[in-house]
Amino acid sequence: MGSITLDGVRKSFGAHDIIQGADLEIKDGSFVVFVGPSGCGKTTLLRMIAGLEDVSGGRILIDGINVVGVPPARRGLSMVFQSYALYPHMSVRGNIAFGLKMAGLPRSEIDKKVEDAAAILNLTDYLDRKPRELSGGQRQRVAIGRAIVREPKAFLFDEPLSNLDAALRVQMRLEVTRLQRQLATTAIYVTHDQVEAMTMADQIVVLSAGRIEQAGSPLELYERPDNLFVAGFIGSPRMNLITGKLATARNAATIGIRPEHLNVNRDGQGWTGRVAVAEHLGSDTFLYVDVADIGTLTARCPGEMRVAVGDTVGLAPDPAHLHRFDRDGKAIRA
Ligand code: ATP
Repeated sequence: MGSITLDGVRKSFGAHDIIQGADLEIKDGSFVVFVGPSGCGKTTLLRMIAGLEDVSGGRILIDGINVVGVPPARRGLSMVFQSYALYPHMSVRGNIAFGLKMAGLPRSEIDKKVEDAAAILNLTDYLDRKPRELSGGQRQRVAIGRAIVREPKAFLFDEPLSNLDAALRVQMRLEVTRLQRQLATTAIYVTHDQVEAMTMADQIVVLSAGRIEQAGSPLELYERPDNLFVAGFIGSPRMNLITGKLATARNAATIGIRPEHLNVNRDGQGWTGRVAVAEHLGSDTFLYVDVADIGTLTARCPGEMRVAVGDTVGLAPDPAHLHRFDRDGKAIRA
């Protein structure tokens, strides 16, 4: 079992409040991603759950038991770091087995666990190699293997893929997601990459300046952001945010519309403007269109629609997908 509850968790460094009262329910077996801009407190929150950082206030419950003050090794959690933290002089087998040896498990049991983990992670052929003889992805798999064999209540991942190149990141993202589903072990995963958050999580927790802005499934956050911060953070390219008369006319301080909810047309429907930049990705084209009195709007159109810089296009907003926000940036629900 591995349910985790944060109850009013706070952290200050000196006079700085870094985490400002975090409340969160993490269900056993779920994959939760903490996402937010640099410095928002993701790593600090993860390290507090791990026990590597003291808590200034509140409670952290693992399976209903408050673990504040309990040393990291007794929380039953396994952490996987960006830096892998492998022992360079030990083989892959030695690295994966290390924690189990320290715990005094019998040799036969250690061998079985290491071999099972290696099979899951496609590392069987590499067990006798040293870390320097492995690729970045393989090293990260060894670090994950070391976490798996301890059979933790939860895995805590701190930006584990950020040292890898783009293609390998995508591959490892799939592997980590698949592995977590297979093991059905709770996972908390820290990243500043919202694509990782969207693709991996059952539940995304968006943090900003030490506050949880919103927690929910990827599509909940995408379709119903609670506030301007989440609206702007989740989604790439970003949601268009429009203030001024257009917003006031809809009884809002700001209105938001995602690029795919602006219908690009040649017959002048909706807002009209000139294409300043066209990004042709093949399947889709993203247009950056200068519209008088509004500014630059981003719109998505199908790749086969041939639109070039300098063209005049209409952008018709889909009223069913218009988001409204009040003066404080809170979503106005119809
Ligand atoms: P990143 O994505 O850049 O890793 P993060 O969201 O993980 O950022 P944290 O590392 O949790 O952010 O840091 C949150 C804030 O706490 C930052 O403003 C940071 O400067 C501050 N901070 C972190 N550790 C300490 C410390 N030991 N002493 C003082 N301030 C700290």
